[in-house]
Amino acid sequence: MSQVYDRVALIGLGLIASSMFWAIKRAGLAGEVTGYARSEATRETARRIGLCDRVCDTAQEAVEGADLVVLCVPVGAMGAVAADIAPVLKPGATVTDVGSVKRHVIEAVSPHIPEDVHFIPAHPLAGTEHSGPESGFAELFDNRWCLLVPVDGSDADAIARLRALWEGMGSNVDEMDADHHDLVLAVTSHAPHLIAYTMVGVADDLRRVTDTEVIKYSAAGFRDFTRIAASDPTMWRDVFLTNKDATLEILGRFTEELFALQRAIRTGDGEQLFDYFTRTRAIRRGIIDAGQDTDAPDFGRGKANP
Ligand code: NAP
Repeated sequence: MSQVYDRVALIGLGLIASSMFWAIKRAGLAGEVTGYARSEATRETARRIGLCDRVCDTAQEAVEGADLVVLCVPVGAMGAVAADIAPVLKPGATVTDVGSVKRHVIEAVSPHIPEDVHFIPAHPLAGTEHSGPESGFAELFDNRWCLLVPVDGSDADAIARLRALWEGMGSNVDEMDADHHDLVLAVTSHAPHLIAYTMVGVADDLRRVTDTEVIKYSAAGFRDFTRIAASDPTMWRDVFLTNKDATLEILGRFTEELFALQRAIRTGDGEQLFDYFTRTRAIRRGIIDAGQDTDAPDFGRGKANP
């Protein structure tokens, strides 16, 4: 794979940025990658493990001369970071982000982008429950989707270059409208995370009653919830605060279905339960057939899906 950008700047050095760095290096997609994180501790860690060719002490220093700037901070921090770097953005450069919510990021970042700079929001649909500069790995994006969410009038060449970068990092790339993105992600990611957080919270309350039994005998279903519920609190707080409408819409539908199943259990309606579970089982088959998970036991976790 050949070089797509001369200079790439990663702002925020957590799971996604560090995975991007290793994936960019794996395929030789950039001449130089600079990086910046707000805390000295993260910058020190990045220097120690060789994350980025150059770790800078300010975001402006990292961005100066960059052809591509990637905002890899929590969604709620995107606007302030964009305002900080705006004065030093190189004419003709592209700014992109990896935030899990798109409408909010567009509204927060767009006002700060100079006229001669392209802004192309993006969201890689890949992650783990780990965070920080040491959690990244080059394979994170392999065979995962990355959604580009171009705003009106986005430059076709700039979009094509960003697409080439994500494909070079192993992703399949699609384009999507921001509001549609936020609704789809509310179904596939945001509401499921909230449900996992809630279930683990309920179990934690119960643990106080049953002592350590919830942990000692934790079965696969609960363990899967705990993995999701271990995700970064700042990131997920921001996701729910900024994708409010879509998440509430999906949670409303979820609650209705839950009540229907609750009623089926109460009234002993085994046929309804069986039919419902048969339908949901087919969805799992569809995800496996689409290559987005494996058929291995324990939900295919392990090397293929860290
Ligand atoms: P992460 O590992 O927690 O790293 C976040 C980085 O942002 C850290 O370098 C942190 O700096 C910095 N940061 C935090 N708050 C900040 C603030 N207020 N101002 C400036 N910098 C700040 O996060 P991540 O998982 O890589 O997520 C980054 C972005 O990717 C988020 O927008 C998230 O929605 C999106 N995303 C995440 C996943 C996932 O599964 N994790 C998947 C797809 C997209 P310090 O280390 O110095 O505190």
